[in-house]
Amino acid sequence: MAKPDQSLDLIVIGAGPGGYVAAIKAAQLGLKVACVEKAYLGGTCLNVGCIPSKALLDSSERYASAQHLAVRGITVGDVKLDMTKMMGFKQSVVNKMTGGIGFLFKKNKVTHLEGHGKLVKQGDGVAVDVGGKVYGATNVLIATGSTPVELPGLTFDGKHVLSSTEALELESVPESLLIVGGGYIGVEIGSVWARLGSKVTIVEFADRILPASDEEMAKGLLKHLKKLGIEFHFGHVAKGAKVQKGKVGVVVEPKDGGDSKTFAVDKVMVAVGRKPNTDKLGLDAIGVETDKRGFIEVNDDFSVKNAPKGVYAIGDVIGKIMLAHNAEQEGKTVAEMLAKGTKPHVNYPACPAVVYTHPELASVGMTEAEAVEKFGKDGIKVGKFPLAANGRAVGMGEADGSVKVIGDKKTDRLLGVHILSPHASDMIGEATVAMEFASSLEDVARSYHAHPTLPEAIKEAAMAADKKAIHI
Ligand code: FAD
Repeated sequence: MAKPDQSLDLIVIGAGPGGYVAAIKAAQLGLKVACVEKAYLGGTCLNVGCIPSKALLDSSERYASAQHLAVRGITVGDVKLDMTKMMGFKQSVVNKMTGGIGFLFKKNKVTHLEGHGKLVKQGDGVAVDVGGKVYGATNVLIATGSTPVELPGLTFDGKHVLSSTEALELESVPESLLIVGGGYIGVEIGSVWARLGSKVTIVEFADRILPASDEEMAKGLLKHLKKLGIEFHFGHVAKGAKVQKGKVGVVVEPKDGGDSKTFAVDKVMVAVGRKPNTDKLGLDAIGVETDKRGFIEVNDDFSVKNAPKGVYAIGDVIGKIMLAHNAEQEGKTVAEMLAKGTKPHVNYPACPAVVYTHPELASVGMTEAEAVEKFGKDGIKVGKFPLAANGRAVGMGEADGSVKVIGDKKTDRLLGVHILSPHASDMIGEATVAMEFASSLEDVARSYHAHPTLPEAIKEAAMAADKKAIHI
């Protein structure tokens, strides 16, 4: 084995939103950086996750809404669907975004190493083997992300039993699609295909969609998804799938026992979670064991537990909050820490989450149940404001939604914001900044909000928590 080159300050393994952002930030701060990537720049997010799914969500929503313009006095001809073009547009978006990372690597002098990165021990430190060539560095950052979990009896075949990756690449609209998992990936991809004409059925183990979200708000979204034609089976599990005569028979059982039912559908997509990518990563070679679920365990500074000095991990592979902007935040934090001079930290309670359905469901901070658990029912205040009383939402013909604001009764500190509205993904920015700055509800209520806008509903909900809303 060749003598490792020790001239690098940082090698990042994985060029997803966690890894590529860390690499660029570290290079901008003066470190000499290389980033190893085995498949594609941009990782899951840009290639098979956030970006392609949002491109299809947007296209399918335009297709669906174009069919309902008559009530606004707009007559369009027959609205037709060209799947090849829609997928082509989605791919062009992916290509543009991933190409942008290659450009940013060059601009910031990040060396892009193509291949599988494997940790190897080197003296009392760690180096990275990429296709037989060993690269040494003062620090190594693991940002290898995650891949979809498979269920027993439902092995992905890419044709009938799909993961989210293939479900975003279908060449034609399946007549029927069964989705296992009512999390955000299930309801987003379910929305895409339901809007384009598929008969979509969602089977979920829990007794509701989006089990981690605020229950009341999730219920509000469920109503819209049912209106779209999606059928739900809660408290059920998928036990297996068998392909026969071009259809796939999916066996579904009540989780507490009882008779099973077989759904004959064109495709089944399994979206029940994602598992960390640690395969052939060489963790054992450096004496690191993962937790029971396979995630890499880290200390508060993202250094890997029980690893030699200088080994860090971030993003999906550590499984704290498996979202792109969180991976980014963690990656940037490690880069700044290594470059020294600043004391960065990640403020997890201020991490927003968005479900890009129509309407969107966006939230930041505690759900009402979490707030009650922490402060007691009498320790919190909750303000709600219906979009039916927001002029902009009514003008858009999209007034079936609401905003919920949760605060600490004693201190008035903002604890959580939940928004079910068109453009909730944009609206949540205000709430995220308010959470980051530890605002009070009064701060939110006293801030100017342009009129007429959807965010006025956030202000009104903050006022409603003290029974001071004006427009209800
Ligand atoms: P990844 O993006 O998974 O990147 C890891 C990279 O490491 C990959 O490119 C992989 O090829 C590479 N790699 C792995 N092992 C090695 C190795 N040994 N050597 C070299 N390279 C390696 N999040 C959001 O915030 N918003 C959304 O709207 C959203 N939508 C999503 C929709 C779908 C359908 C899916 C599947 C996910 C979505 N996510 C979304 C989640 C988001 O994609 C992930 O949280 C995010 O990509 C995690 O970033 P990461 O950098 O940790 O890992």
